[in-house]
Amino acid sequence: MLLNIDKPLRTSTLHDETCSHVPQPYGTQYKPLGTLGRDGGWFAVSSNTEAKVVAQREFPQGAFKPCQYCQES
Ligand SMILES: [Zn+2]
Repeated sequence: MLLNIDKPLRTSTLHDETCSHVPQPYGTQYKPLGTLGRDGGWFAVSSNTEAKVVAQREFPQGAFKPCQYCQES
C-alpha cells in the first residue's frame, strides 16, 4: 500500500499500488518516495494501521483518509 502525503492539500491518503489514482511514476522531485519533499511524499506501508502511524509521524497536521476509489467498496 502507498501513503500519499500532500502538503498543499493537508491530506494523507492511503492507496493500493494498483489504484488508478496513483500517478505513474510516483516519487518525484517535490514528492519523493520515502521522505517528505516540498509538496509532500509517498510512503510504502503494509497496513492501514501502519499508514496512520506514518501519517501522524510525518505530517500530523494532515487529515488521514483512505482513498475512496481503492480502499472503500
Ligand atoms: Zn486509491
